[in-house]
Amino acid sequence: MPGSEWQLVVGLEVHAHLKTRTKMFCRCALEYGAAENTHTCPVCLAHPGALPVPNGRAIEMTILLGLALDCEIAERAVFARKNYFYPDLPKGYQISQYEAPLCGRGRFLLPTEDGEREIGIVRAHLEEDAAKTVHAGGATGRSVGADYSLVDFNRGGTPLLEIVSAPDLRSAEEAVSFLRLLRQTIVELGVSDADMEKGTLRADVNVSVRRAGEEGLRPRWEIKNMNSFRFIGRAIEAAFRQQVEAHEAGEDVEQSTYDYEPDTDRLAVHRSKEEADDYRYFPEPDLVPVEPPAELVEQLRRDVPAPPAERIRRLAAELGFAPAAELVTTGNDGKADLLAREGLDPKTAAAIAMNRGDFLPENAGALARIVEANVTREALDEAFASAAKGPIAAEDYLSRVAVADADALAPVIDSVIAAHPEQVETYRGGKEGVLGFLVGQVMRETQGKADPKAVNQLLREKLRG
Ligand SMILES: [Zn+2]
Repeated sequence: MPGSEWQLVVGLEVHAHLKTRTKMFCRCALEYGAAENTHTCPVCLAHPGALPVPNGRAIEMTILLGLALDCEIAERAVFARKNYFYPDLPKGYQISQYEAPLCGRGRFLLPTEDGEREIGIVRAHLEEDAAKTVHAGGATGRSVGADYSLVDFNRGGTPLLEIVSAPDLRSAEEAVSFLRLLRQTIVELGVSDADMEKGTLRADVNVSVRRAGEEGLRPRWEIKNMNSFRFIGRAIEAAFRQQVEAHEAGEDVEQSTYDYEPDTDRLAVHRSKEEADDYRYFPEPDLVPVEPPAELVEQLRRDVPAPPAERIRRLAAELGFAPAAELVTTGNDGKADLLAREGLDPKTAAAIAMNRGDFLPENAGALARIVEANVTREALDEAFASAAKGPIAAEDYLSRVAVADADALAPVIDSVIAAHPEQVETYRGGKEGVLGFLVGQVMRETQGKADPKAVNQLLREKLRG
């Protein structure tokens, strides 16, 4: 149907390192940041004759995750060899799961402004991670320009959970929301730290487009190993633009792997079709199939906590959908709840929880009183810094109240306005975002003693006049 609108089709493959004490098939300890090649043994270095023994805890964690995603848990799961050659894969194959994964079809309920979206889960399986190649000495961390390359086998054999979503995501924003909430779910289950900066959470993003109403899927582009929510969103948007361009120009869109290049905001082919993967999977002969006992699955089912999505729905009523989603997805709603229980109004509690670090729960009452007293920003900074380390007393901070008096603030505001004619012009031209900068200048001039709310209001009035 030419002329009808293009629709985005996105599916994700999410990889999370499980938080077990030891590796997937040997007893080497897992320790992030340890000196290179200090946690290795004949099994994870693939010495001839060394045999794998599966980590029972990793299997339990995978089932727990599967239950949280409403997956069918296999009665008989099979490990398979995925064959490929790479320097960081000493066996020449990765032990993964192929035809019989531990967790089959499931679903994830994603709360949105207009109700709930059901995102299909195709499968979740357990595998081992490869080792890590480090290119040292260069400016970019790539092999070109590096002094030397090193394979660090500490990571080799780390239990890795792979979750494959159905191609049900329809916008970059939705894909990122899904991934962030899935991440929070994984963290709350206690199965992984799922930290993108540390590489314990990575995602492969599959993107295609189709005309609205079109059946089936067009060839997709796969963007591998993404580790930033922002870049994932931008890569999806870039893939959408480039594919629509190509389809409209009548060019062939081939299924292949792409890299996102932030500098140009475009995707470039990573691997061409001729080199397509051929892994020749077959059942791992060194491992028996996994047959989780029904009692174990039922026990784990009872251990699944309520999903964070439920808390978003509950909090949305008083905070609005977007702030509630942000608060829960970032794992800050527990802090907000502690402050609200001590009498802070829910919106203030949420704003404080989003913008301040963790504190000891026993300090929630004192912090609520300090926030209500409208103390200076400096005093608030100090209170929160101390509240993370030990017990604090509200009285130590309550006397340092912020200046909200218009007469006291007026001269400072006038001088800031006079000193920044350009920003004032921009603001009057309709760009209200620049107000934050001017408020910041006043806060700086007063060494944090001004009340930001009062400054905001006075600045608006003066700039209007
Ligand atoms: Zn080992």
